[in-house]
Amino acid sequence: MKKTGTIALVGRPNVGKSTLMNALLGENLSIVSPKAQTTRHRIIGVLSQGDNQFLFVDTPGQADIQGKALNRLLDRTAMGAMADVDIVLWLVDAVRWTDVDEAVLKRLLRQRPKCLGVVLNKIDRMRDKAGLLPLMGRLQQQVEPDFIVPLSALKKANLDVLRGELEKYLPAGEWTYDPDTLTPHSGEFLVAEQIRQQLFLRLNQELPYACTVTVDQMTEAVDHYEIHATIWVNRASHKGIVIGKQGQGLKALGQAAGKRLEALFDKPMNLNLWVKVRDGWADHEDGIQSFGYGATE
Ligand code: GDP
Repeated sequence: MKKTGTIALVGRPNVGKSTLMNALLGENLSIVSPKAQTTRHRIIGVLSQGDNQFLFVDTPGQADIQGKALNRLLDRTAMGAMADVDIVLWLVDAVRWTDVDEAVLKRLLRQRPKCLGVVLNKIDRMRDKAGLLPLMGRLQQQVEPDFIVPLSALKKANLDVLRGELEKYLPAGEWTYDPDTLTPHSGEFLVAEQIRQQLFLRLNQELPYACTVTVDQMTEAVDHYEIHATIWVNRASHKGIVIGKQGQGLKALGQAAGKRLEALFDKPMNLNLWVKVRDGWADHEDGIQSFGYGATE
């Protein structure tokens, strides 16, 4: 019997979500030809194994978001998507518990997913595995997850146990993608998504919606990706806001997006960003289409 379902990896920034997804896929995301997206989630990774097709849903993670921005992020993306994914996989660092983990825990308690698994990641950092027991016990008691798996995404240790658990909770259903699909998106789409996400995190609520992103060039060299992308704004004043004082805003945005893309593609990124004004583009339907706005790719 074929099974398929969506899995959201949630957890605070740097806990290892991208590393785990890449480790589970067994290969790093490579540029593939785009396919139409058939669910409303942002699927970024597809794992087909035996009778099962796991669809991993994107959840952003940034080292430097806190407070309001983090809450906004949790509301709008990862946590917002939780209600209707099949499995929520919550990643926790086995050796480091922070306030952000506590905030995620509260969210999960308030809005309990239908299937919740906990991953205690980075166990390679523990000398004595018995040290896991207090955290496991506490989470078991507080959250009552469907399963808890300690593992190391980096060292690829215990991944089979996790795959086994995921398989148990995957609903029956026909597959959406060919077995050899790793991601339904093109590399360009994933790059544009990361830049859009950063705009969203760093700018006032209204402005990101008035921006659009095009990836003008993406080439893979032996040791890195070379990317040229443009952030289009519709007013000259917005350009200054995106670029920031002495270019600091754009620099930080590029660094954060680049870091995340490096984790996703497992290769260094040379990300060149430009900000350009296109007057009144938002008023013309032609303009919108020419930027691929609303495209499902
Ligand atoms: P994300 O922000 O949750 O997507 O986290 P990343 O996947 O980008 O990982 C953040 C950092 O933790 C990176 O430097 C990873 O190499 C590291 N990391 C991820 N998993 C492990 C693990 O199992 N063990 C160790 N020691 N480091 C890990």
